[in-house]
Parts: sequence; C-alpha cells; structure tokens
Amino acid sequence: MTMRKGFVIWLTGMSGAGKSTTGQLLEQRLRAAGVTQVEVLDGDAVRTQLCKGLGYSKEDRDENVRRIGFVCELLARNGVAVIVAAISPYRAARDAVRARVETFIEVHVDCSLAVLVERDVKGLYKKALSGEIAHFTGVSDPYEAPLAAEVVIDSASESPEESLDKIWSALTGRGLVLKGLAPNYRPAPLIDLHSHTNESDGTFSPAELIAEAQRVGVRTLAITDHDTFAGYDQAVQFSMEAGVHLICGIELSTKWNGTSVHLLGYFFDQTKMTGFRKWILELQTSRKDRNRRLIERLREVGVNITMEEVDARGRGMTGRPHFARVLMDKGYVSSIQQAFDVYLADSGKAYVDRMEPPFAEAVRMIRDAGGITSIAHPVRWNGDFAGALPALCKTGLHAIEAYHSDHSSEQREHFLFLAKQHGLRVTGGSDFHGAVKPGIQLGTGREENVCVPAEVLLAFPQG
Ligand SMILES: [Zn+2]
Ligand SMILES: [Zn+2]
Repeated sequence: MTMRKGFVIWLTGMSGAGKSTTGQLLEQRLRAAGVTQVEVLDGDAVRTQLCKGLGYSKEDRDENVRRIGFVCELLARNGVAVIVAAISPYRAARDAVRARVETFIEVHVDCSLAVLVERDVKGLYKKALSGEIAHFTGVSDPYEAPLAAEVVIDSASESPEESLDKIWSALTGRGLVLKGLAPNYRPAPLIDLHSHTNESDGTFSPAELIAEAQRVGVRTLAITDHDTFAGYDQAVQFSMEAGVHLICGIELSTKWNGTSVHLLGYFFDQTKMTGFRKWILELQTSRKDRNRRLIERLREVGVNITMEEVDARGRGMTGRPHFARVLMDKGYVSSIQQAFDVYLADSGKAYVDRMEPPFAEAVRMIRDAGGITSIAHPVRWNGDFAGALPALCKTGLHAIEAYHSDHSSEQREHFLFLAKQHGLRVTGGSDFHGAVKPGIQLGTGREENVCVPAEVLLAFPQG
C-alpha cells in the first residue's frame, strides 16, 4: 500500500487571472479521481471569515497569507489536499508558507495586464486605473511573480483544461496522485477506530497489534475488544513507544428488541471508569456461565469437549468462535461455519442463551463513564435500521459506524446520510481480527474499502 501525505497547491496571480476557476476545476478533478479529502481556500471567502478586518496594506496582505498558510499547514498535516486561490502578491510571504508545509506546489496563474484589463469582468481594473480603488495589485500595488513556481499556467493563451493538465502532471510526477482514474491517494496518517486483540477474538497480541499499526501507518487506533479492556490495558505502554495515539474502546454485545446488537464505546473519561470496569467484569462472569452451560448442552447432544480445550484457544474472552474451533479440531464438524450451523448458532441444537445487557443500559453505562457510543457495523442490523433510529437516538446514542469493512460505498454513503439526518456523529474502523479474518487489513479494511477521514476525530474529545 502506498501512503500519501496531504499537500498544498497554491494558486497565486492577479485579480481575474483565473485562480478561483482553476481551483474549482482542480477540486472536481481530484474528487473524480477518488481524492475525497480536498479543501479549497478561496481568497475572497477567506477574507470574510478567517481574515475579516484585514485591509490591503502590505502588512495586512502578508498577515492574510500567513493565516491561510497556518490553516494549510494544519490540513495538510492531516492528509488533506488543500487548494489555495489567493492573489498573495508578496514573494516572501508565499515562501514563508512554503517553508512550513511539507509538500507545497506553487502555481503561478499568469495573465498579461492587457488581457486582464480587456476581460475586467468585475470592472475593477477600470476603477483601479482611474484611481477609484487604491492598493490594487498590478496597478497601484506590486505583484511579485514567483521566481521558480512548480507550475506556470497562462490563462490568456491556454484553455482551462490545458492549464489543469499541467497542474495534474505536477501532482502525478510527485506521486501525489496516480496517473489515470484511480490515484493511489491515501490520507496519512490513517485512523482506525475498530480493532481486536487476542484478548477477545482477534489473533494479534496487543504488542503485535501496535506494531502492525505502526507498520501500515495507523497513527490513531482504538482497541475495541469484546467486553474487555485487557488488550487496551496492555497496549498502552507499547503505543507510547510506537507513537501510536491509542484510544480506549470496547465492543459490547447488547440486546435490542430481542436481537443482538454490537455497541462500541470510546473516549472514556479515565477518572469515571471504576463503575464501568466493575460492570464489565459482571458481563464476563455471565459469559463464563454461558460457556459452562454450553459445554453441558453439547454433552447432551453427544459432543464431548472440555472447558480447558476451549479456554486454550480463547484466553480470557472465550466465545462461540473458540467452541467452533474445538468442534472442528476434534472432527465433530468440518468447518467453522458448520459448527455454527449445526450446534452454536441461535437456531443450532446446542444453543444456550446468554445474558446480554439491554442496549439502553449499555449506552447509559458508557455515558456514565464519560464515553461516546456508536452502533457497530449497522449493515448487520436485523430489520429496519432507519426505522429504529429515532428510538435508538432516544437512548442517548452518539454515533453510528459508517465506515466499516463490511460496508459497500453505497452503504457507507447511506449511513453517513442517516447520521446527518438524525444529528448523529459517525465513527469508523476496519474491525481488524488478524488471521481469523484474513481479508481485512488494519487501517484500510477489505481491499482499501475503509478510509476514516480526520473530520471524524474532530467531533470527539481527545480526538
Ligand atoms: Zn461486532
Ligand atoms: Zn468488532
């Protein structure tokens, strides 16, 4: 997998030269090529927001550019492709931004004054030339053209498409986007808010999971083991050494109208967690009790396995997948799937019920511990998810997991839409389990179908 960082494309040139138009076209082309994290900072729009009150003296113009540059630096650092369209007449101010940003592509949008005056769409040049507007760049104020811009386009002699092609080849030449339609663009660092260690049903130890995060470029990782913090607790020290921002998480099996729903909890307030951790231990006891009853029930239907055999495969959080493995290893079934179909699934002949907390109770417990709640992989919802959302929201739910390895792009868009419609936030992650789900990569899911944008984190505390 190729990792790509954010970058800044800085369009400089005189008023009316075509910076905004070029910027918009470039944005469209990037998006069409699959680069979803694009921001356009247009000089005019910026002046009414970020730079309100600044005038047109050299000092104010430099301050304007400095502020835009600061925002660029933040965005690019988080993997965003930033397009700036601003006159930015002074060379030193532009160079100061260049010095702060790792990948800075200066595009000089050139156009002769004669053509600009002739075009003069807004009638500004006429006013400037007659002295009605003071400090007008190129007329009564200097414009310092770049000495070594990465790209020079001439809107007087080129079509917008030709200009765009020049910028595009500067991007492909630097490997920032791939040639053709599918650029290998990935915002780095990656964010993954759903992963499992071997303390629940994953195969990677906490240390191995952190090493994997470091290897693939996941800089923000949540460990969300089923009903346990054991993996997270061990991973804390490794994450600090590896420079991985580790988020405390959990995935709880809950009951909603009689069916099982996975609920993610995140971003706990470590000072409010004592009660929650105690409650989790009770859940673990109920899980162990279920396992004991399951062994008995299996014996009744002629299957002889022991708790030791199952625990050897499941560590602290032994669950049905571990039973399935033993059934297979001992020859009772020929596959994991068959183990579930015949014995372990809700309709299987050895099924025993397990006490799962009601959904609303789990939401309340997580909230009391200062955490954020999100419905895991909503695509697996049994029945009408959209129809259930109003009632789910009433429990105090914060978010839904829109980005997940099991979601197609249409499903992802659908869940993003539903979240917006109901005022919910979104979360996302690969649901990495290691070798038991070999098609899923940490950080990027199935064949790179998961890409959690940085905005997701901005909506949460300690993000
Ligand atoms: Zn799950
Ligand atoms: Zn999971």
